[in-house]
Amino acid sequence: MYRVAIVGRPNVGKSSLFNRIIGKRKAIVEDIPGVTRDRIVSTAEWRGIPFEIVDTGGYIEGDKDIFAPYIRKQIEKELDLSDAFILVVDGKEGITPADQEIAKILHRTDKPVYIAVNKIDNPENEEVVYEFYELGFDKVFPVSSIQKYGVADLLDAVVEDIPHYEKESIKEETKKEDRDLIKVAIVGKPNAGKSSLLNAILGEERAVVSDIPGTTRDVVDTLFEWNGQKFIFLDTAGLRKKSKVDYGIEFFSVGRTLESIKKADVIVHVIDAQQGATEQDTKIAHLIQKYTKPAVIVINKIDTVPPKSEVLNRIKNQVRERLYFIPYAPIVMTSAKNRKGIKQLLREIIEVYNQAWKRVGTGQLNRAIKQILSLRQPPSYQGKPLKIYYATQLEGKPPCFLLFVNYPEGFKEHFVRFLENNLRTVLGFEKAPIKLLFRGRDESRD
Ligand code: GDP
Ligand code: GDP
Repeated sequence: MYRVAIVGRPNVGKSSLFNRIIGKRKAIVEDIPGVTRDRIVSTAEWRGIPFEIVDTGGYIEGDKDIFAPYIRKQIEKELDLSDAFILVVDGKEGITPADQEIAKILHRTDKPVYIAVNKIDNPENEEVVYEFYELGFDKVFPVSSIQKYGVADLLDAVVEDIPHYEKESIKEETKKEDRDLIKVAIVGKPNAGKSSLLNAILGEERAVVSDIPGTTRDVVDTLFEWNGQKFIFLDTAGLRKKSKVDYGIEFFSVGRTLESIKKADVIVHVIDAQQGATEQDTKIAHLIQKYTKPAVIVINKIDTVPPKSEVLNRIKNQVRERLYFIPYAPIVMTSAKNRKGIKQLLREIIEVYNQAWKRVGTGQLNRAIKQILSLRQPPSYQGKPLKIYYATQLEGKPPCFLLFVNYPEGFKEHFVRFLENNLRTVLGFEKAPIKLLFRGRDESRD
């Protein structure tokens, strides 16, 4: 989430402004290893746009106008972590050397910096703000945290600078109605039984089915409701009409498969039980992995193989081994022909979707990481052991975790996969893909 840090020397009113911005929300203490003073963090929202706000705090009675070394450290740390900065200064006192020091640090970044000239309790005193342009930033706002004055203009400027894509993704993520509707793509090689499976699903008892014409020609999605859950099956024109003749029997379009995978919330990957996972299935699954999509693997035509557990297990193992890189996708066995396993499939779609939306607390996450690291020593990088200082879950789906580490480039595929698999188990994301992002934090300054 877009992160805005409130910085400034002690006693200028950072906490007051922070509290004003978060309103009734609850703030939490963010414990970042290596930082002398904990930060207070909360989500905030302005004009419908959520963001994260941080009070870098750290007020000690007595060091009012001293530019203590810990303030420098606090702010330097925050330069990497945050996307924008509100530098709070005291309008009654004017510019102090400490303000200038802090402004100097902030000039090192290209990220937006706003000056909040606080304690302008009387709008008539607004002209004192001009003095603060001397700090070298052109977004200067008179505010009074106590009188609530000017805070709206300041926040308007802040959210105005949040990049468009960030706003869009936030809006999409928070749209409630979005969550009620699961977009499903049925993919697989020709003849695996995709059409038959879709028809079996749509033929479920008490299902409500309707077609939604797409925006482009020959794209039709199908809306389907079952047990109070709405699904949209994407790009069903070909599947429902069964227009094989148009394509030729071996037609397999990676492009079309890719489009569906990108658009969908959950992928249903259909595999023919008689053939097991083939080369084409590996390609499809690689796309699923590449786009970090929740998926259900369907082994279809189960009626064509002997109903013995060793046979079924052998098929399942073959599929698991071949598609080892999407270990989170549950496997369901179906017979579209006999309408077997359909309810199970629908339940799994709902389950993986819900897991993909799940959030875990920062405390729980960091405990899980500690636990996992105790299972296996992290490898070394350039002769030094890799370290994970702190992790946090980002907004949105699939679950995405940001890890602050000493050497981001030292985290190689093998160890990353180990972390991913264990995090999924420990945190209850067994059926969801998760994504890990690594960000460097230079600890040498502490
Ligand atoms: P911090 O150390 O920067 O977090 O500052 P605080 O938020 O703790 O505020 C320091 C002092 O300034 C407190 O006594 C506040 O009541 C006071 N203060 C904060 N904002 C305002 C304001 O807008 N007007 C006035 N007059 N006092 C303020
Ligand atoms: P698509 O190309 O993936 O859409 O596959 P279709 O649904 O057209 O199925 C291909 C062939 O497999 C057709 O002849 C279907 O009747 C047959 N088929 C599909 N599902 C099953 C199944 O569960 N059992 C059996 N025995 N045949 C099936």
